[in-house]
Amino acid sequence: MSDVLLNVQDLRISIPTTHGLVHAVNGISYEVMRGEIMGIIGESGSGKSVSSYAVMHLLPENFIVESGKVFLDGEELLHKSNAEMQAYRGKKISMIFQDPLSCLDPVYTIGYQLTETILAHENISKKEAQTRAKEMLHAVGLRDVDRLMNQYSFEISGGMRQRVMIAIALVCSPKLLIADEPTTALDVTIQDQILRLLRKLSEENRMTMIFITHNFNVAAQICDRVSVMYGGHIMEQGPIADVFANPAHPYTQAILNAMPKMNTSPEERLTPIPGEPINPVHMPAGCPFHPRCSLARKICKEEFPAETIISDKHFAYCHRLEETADE
Ligand code: SF4
Repeated sequence: MSDVLLNVQDLRISIPTTHGLVHAVNGISYEVMRGEIMGIIGESGSGKSVSSYAVMHLLPENFIVESGKVFLDGEELLHKSNAEMQAYRGKKISMIFQDPLSCLDPVYTIGYQLTETILAHENISKKEAQTRAKEMLHAVGLRDVDRLMNQYSFEISGGMRQRVMIAIALVCSPKLLIADEPTTALDVTIQDQILRLLRKLSEENRMTMIFITHNFNVAAQICDRVSVMYGGHIMEQGPIADVFANPAHPYTQAILNAMPKMNTSPEERLTPIPGEPINPVHMPAGCPFHPRCSLARKICKEEFPAETIISDKHFAYCHRLEETADE
C-alpha cells in the first residue's frame, strides 16, 4: 500500500463572472501522506478553499474544473459522477466547516443527525447506530451524551456545536478529513481545545487531514506540513517547522513579518504586507505576488517561477531564491 493517500495533479479551476473568467486555481499539485496533517495557508482569493472543495465535488455548479486529477487511495475522483461521490462523502472523505450553525440542521436533534449519517453508510440497526453516535460524542470530549442526543444545535454553545460537527464528520471513520477554518469563529481557549482534539483524533486513528487556514500560528499548532498559496498557486511547501523557521518565499516571509510574536512588545509596530490583496479578476501575469514584492524584477512580471528546492521536502517558487540565498 502506497504511503500517499491523496494525490492532486495540475488542478485548474476557473469561475465565470460578469467581469470575465476568474482563474481561481492555476495548476496546483501536491500529495498528502497517510496520517499526515497538511495545512493550506492563504488569504482570501488564494484558492485554498476552492481547491479543497473540488476534492469533495462540493464546488458551486458554475465553477469550471478545467483540468487536473485527484487520486484518493489510487482512485481518481474528479471524473466521478455526483451519485458515485455520495458513497465517498462521509465514509471516505469528510469535511468540517467554519460555521457549524450553517451545517447542523436546527429542526433535527443532534442524535438524529448523527445516527442518520451512520445509517446512510453502514448496514447496521438503528440501536447500534445510536450507540455508535453516543460513543463518538464521548470521543470528541462531550459529556451527558444521553441528554445531548435529544438536544438541538441552537440549544448548545459554539464550542459544543463545533465538537458535534467533528463527531458527525468522523463517525464513519473517513480516510481523509478536510477542515475548513474550523476554529476561526471560536475564542482562543476553545480554539486551542479543538486543535488539540483534532490532533489527538488524527494520531489515534491515523487519519489524514487537510487543514485550511489563513493563520500561521494555528497551522503551527496542528500541521505537519504546509502549502502556502497565493493567486491560485502554491508558492512554498514544506514541513511546518522548516517553513516557520526558514521561510524562503517573499510572500511567506511577509505573512510571518505581519504576525505578532511571543516577544512583540505592545509599542512595536507590525509590518503589514504592502499593496492590496490580489484581485482574482485581474490576475497579474508571471508571479502573482509581483505587484506587492519589493524584490520583483522584469522576469517576475512575465514568467511564473520554476520550483527551487530549499531542503528535503521544502521547496518554493520564486525567481530570486538562489540570488537572495547567496546574499
Ligand atoms: Fe517576488 Fe519575483 Fe519572487 Fe515573485 S518571483 S516573489 S515577484 S522576487
